[in-house]
Amino acid sequence: SSFFQLDLGSDLDTNIKRCGYKNPTPVQKHAIPVIMSGRDLMACAQTGSGKTAAFCLPIIAGILKGRNGFSEPRGPRGSGSRVATPVALIMCPTRELAGQIHDEANKFANRTRVRIAVAYGGVPIYQQLRCLERGVDILVATPGRLVDLIDRAKVSLQKVQYLTLDEADRMLDMGFEPTIRRIIEQTGMPSSPVRQTMLFSATFPSEIQRLAADFLSNYVYLTV
Ligand code: AMP
Repeated sequence: SSFFQLDLGSDLDTNIKRCGYKNPTPVQKHAIPVIMSGRDLMACAQTGSGKTAAFCLPIIAGILKGRNGFSEPRGPRGSGSRVATPVALIMCPTRELAGQIHDEANKFANRTRVRIAVAYGGVPIYQQLRCLERGVDILVATPGRLVDLIDRAKVSLQKVQYLTLDEADRMLDMGFEPTIRRIIEQTGMPSSPVRQTMLFSATFPSEIQRLAADFLSNYVYLTV
């Protein structure tokens, strides 16, 4: 099978080719159609499986296609507000992983109107704030820095329609569970379209099963 058959759209097909990717990996082949159909997903996938593209590509495709009416870029640009309101949030455990996801997502979103920002701790916050103030569709963030940005009223999660937790087992191992739960509870609002949630984890222990039971609905379970 080829990426073309996944119906991601011509902008993404072009950018995938530019990345040198020829065929989807197993997790991409199975996860992309599930995410594009709007279903929640719990995927067991290791680093190196191609999981980053498996969630980035359908999210970008969904934003470009304006699924559920989200056809306009979100955030401060033109709105007069200084609070960033991403429609997609990707949470991951470390600064290194956040940087990698941001780089890969940017390659896929090249020459499209989709704007991606990254926020992680351990570095000054000012540059990240400036980037957020320009408006953002997809925010890649580590939990601690994200809470900081929410507390400073620089980010609101009310518009989040796509929520991805990457390396969820590692985030729990690092003690982020209460923070993650607090963050997820801030996504969406009663009047907004239902949030779609994607949980990626190398392992599927009982803590992850509980997280899935609490925050995913009628989800597809995928193991590769
Ligand atoms: P990940 O598991 O997302 O960390 O990806 C592992 C590596 O595989 C990254 O360096 C990607 O750039 C690369 N990669 C992901 N998907 C593909 C693909 N379909 N074809 C070739 N390389 C890929």
